[in-house]
Amino acid sequence: MSNLGSNLDDLYREIILDHYRSPRNRGELESPPAIRVEGFNPLCGDEIVVYLDVEDDVLKNIKMVGSGCSISQSSASLMSAAVKGKTLAQVRETVATFKQLMTVRESTLAHDGESPKVDLRALGELAALQGVIKFPVRIKCATLAWNTLTQGLDELT
Ligand code: ZN
Repeated sequence: MSNLGSNLDDLYREIILDHYRSPRNRGELESPPAIRVEGFNPLCGDEIVVYLDVEDDVLKNIKMVGSGCSISQSSASLMSAAVKGKTLAQVRETVATFKQLMTVRESTLAHDGESPKVDLRALGELAALQGVIKFPVRIKCATLAWNTLTQGLDELT
């Protein structure tokens, strides 16, 4: 974390630490009816269990428990805050945008408004995780919760 921290600007580091220390939507939902999905990142030892309560194509509630590095856990918290209450279509869109952020080259981030591939403003607090792309081994930490969420959404169809 120290290497990563020194390369992120203060605001982004603050957001990540805040979500790590005070994770949003922490806990469990009764399953069933909630969908329960487990994710594991063997490279780092990160674990996550995601609970999804879906009704009428809306993600009414999301809860999660997990353990692991600050990137994996803060990314999970940021994700839960970003997708809770959204329609499933909006959730999938947010997932796609975040995945894009994790695969894009730094030079294509929309800081200067020059032919942006990823609109950082549309990502809100999720943009705080952009620094992760400088550390490829950490990308699996950051995307763990997102892949687990996707797995849960796929179980619906
Ligand atoms: Zn990790």
